[in-house]
Amino acid sequence: MLICTQCGKTYLLNERIWKCQCGGTLAVDFHARFPLKKIVKRAHTMWRYREALPLQHDANIVSFNEGFTPLVEVPLKDTSVLCKQEHLFPTGSFKDRGAAMLISKVKELGIQKVVEDSSGNAGSAIAAYSAKADIDCQIFIPESASSEKVNQIHAYGAKVTKIQGDRGATAEVALQAAKSHYYASHSWNPFFFQGTKTFAYEIYEQLGWNVPDTVILPVGNGTLLLGTYIGFNDLLQAHRINALPKLIGIQAANCAPLYHAYQEEVTESSSIEKRDTVAKGIAIKNPIRAKQILNAVKRTEGWFITVKEEEIRETLLGMCRNGFYIEPTASATIAGVKKYLENVHTEKEVVVTALTGHGLKASSTIADIIDG
Ligand SMILES: *Cc1c(COP(=O)(O)O)cnc(C)c1O
Ligand SMILES: [Zn+2]
Repeated sequence: MLICTQCGKTYLLNERIWKCQCGGTLAVDFHARFPLKKIVKRAHTMWRYREALPLQHDANIVSFNEGFTPLVEVPLKDTSVLCKQEHLFPTGSFKDRGAAMLISKVKELGIQKVVEDSSGNAGSAIAAYSAKADIDCQIFIPESASSEKVNQIHAYGAKVTKIQGDRGATAEVALQAAKSHYYASHSWNPFFFQGTKTFAYEIYEQLGWNVPDTVILPVGNGTLLLGTYIGFNDLLQAHRINALPKLIGIQAANCAPLYHAYQEEVTESSSIEKRDTVAKGIAIKNPIRAKQILNAVKRTEGWFITVKEEEIRETLLGMCRNGFYIEPTASATIAGVKKYLENVHTEKEVVVTALTGHGLKASSTIADIIDG
């Protein structure tokens, strides 16, 4: 069933809703199972964890064979960490995990048209999977969205509507449209998180059915961090693991509402002044699920780290020379990992992180970085 994270009201899994009547965000309450002997015989996609994904019929799966991204060792500082190559997804970011699950559910519900607001990767992913499922898709984007990302959304055949003003203004217009069409929102829709949770399952399998000590992730709306938290909790509840990894969230110093809320020991997002950052994918001033993100980080005994613009730029160029052409947002994460390794890391600790998006999605921002 669906359960409200605010008032606890429950709804059937097949209701066409994306938020509670009280305005709260929803979570999916679903009993995930992990029949390992069956899983290992299946194709290497996120759908190999079929019994953990809340979809009734296989016929509704909308897929580009995404998932099971390589987990590779990357040398950093005097040690190395394990990086999931999430930039190798069909649309170039981990958002495909969420979009594949969500659009499959949309198909199962018999919905013909979805709306979403995004300034980039989530929009591309929702557009791509909607195209595969033959579902009409309208994406609202802020005027300032980068042309590479807008082109990609267009290429999948979605209707793109540019909105004047900032990211908040775009979200407002999408919320209006969501009154008459299903809202395939990466931040609101709980099924998106049921897709991103497969990130945790894959790590567990790729480590030989073991849980890492620490997972370091970027946080904007928290779709990857909360998905990871849900995924490891599913494994815990199924008695596959007996502890959760510590979750460390990375934010750009220029837009770090959750870092500040954590420091101030409040449970809601702190209102902050947002300054410009090259890490556009995590520049979220008011994350809708702030409370849940703070709770996940606290419950796993993790914390938040911020990174400065110079650190993001320098790390990006370093990663390129290591063979990883990634987005500035993805390099913000790695800049945070470096800080973590300098201050906290112990020798035997298994640290996993992610390269969340491909550099080809952000050529113009990367050009600015090169020009200094
Ligand atoms: C969306 C995105 C993020 C941030 O993810 P959230 O779900 O907003 O926390 C980080 N990196 C890339 C490349 C992204 O597309
Ligand atoms: Zn509610």
